[in-house]
Amino acid sequence: MFKQLLLFLLLTVAGFSAHSVLLQVLGSGGPEIGDKRASSSYIVWIDGRSRILVDFGGGALLRFEESNARIEDIDMILLTHLHIDHTSDLPALMKASFFTGRSHDILLYGPEGNRVMPGTKTFIKRLFEDKKGAWQYMGDYLDGRASFQLKTKNVDRSRKVQTLYRKGDITIQAVTVHHGPIPAVAYRVNAGKKSITFTGDMNGAYHTVEALAYRTDLLVAHNAVPKGAKGTATVLHMTPDSIGRIAAESKAGSLVLSHRMLRTLGKEKETKREIRKYYMGPIVFANDKSIYTVK
Ligand SMILES: [Zn+2]
Repeated sequence: MFKQLLLFLLLTVAGFSAHSVLLQVLGSGGPEIGDKRASSSYIVWIDGRSRILVDFGGGALLRFEESNARIEDIDMILLTHLHIDHTSDLPALMKASFFTGRSHDILLYGPEGNRVMPGTKTFIKRLFEDKKGAWQYMGDYLDGRASFQLKTKNVDRSRKVQTLYRKGDITIQAVTVHHGPIPAVAYRVNAGKKSITFTGDMNGAYHTVEALAYRTDLLVAHNAVPKGAKGTATVLHMTPDSIGRIAAESKAGSLVLSHRMLRTLGKEKETKREIRKYYMGPIVFANDKSIYTVK
């Protein structure tokens, strides 16, 4: 016991305290039905705790329950953008939290607004604010009267990588990305030397994710459109070859493809071929409840 403690202290002092970090996909689909998938959502498990949620679209709460994650363990929620397929189970999560022993605050980050979309702070107020929100009976979670507070912060529309959060060796970084007219953010979660980067929905036009994801262990990219897609779809989403270019340029350790839609399902071989023109690392297609270990 004493030897183990000594070894732990030595490794910690030397900066080698390795966290166990897992990515669990809750929802691997987009906004459609018929794909038999929940909409976009992920858990980052750190040292056995479900500490960070990224997006929480339709179906995510059921998958959360199936994954044995605990609401009490969530430290923060990172919203890539406010489309319904990335946010719609959030009210259900908040209500479910009432029935748990949760007592510490949840930090929630999401993009600032523009003329098309409200900022995340306004969005959350419109949902829950006392006497004004759609679910105004949840207002006590915003104003501090409940057992914990949902503390919302807008992420600036910066094309430079910014650090949003730092506690011990856990850091959260973000950068703005291009998702048509919709304000959108990509996030990187770092736990010690391990990292996972989430592109969210984007088409890559700002070329900002490459710096955020530089040498990340896992790059989670959204495979919403197939090779040869044109028009609005490519204003909003990356084609497979742009996913390949971004993964290669960022030197990502491996690539997880998610946000799979009816138009990309069944085209995995073609998609992989396109990505392989640029990127030689491991490529996996995510399903709901897939788990990937960050090594
Ligand atoms: Zn989406």
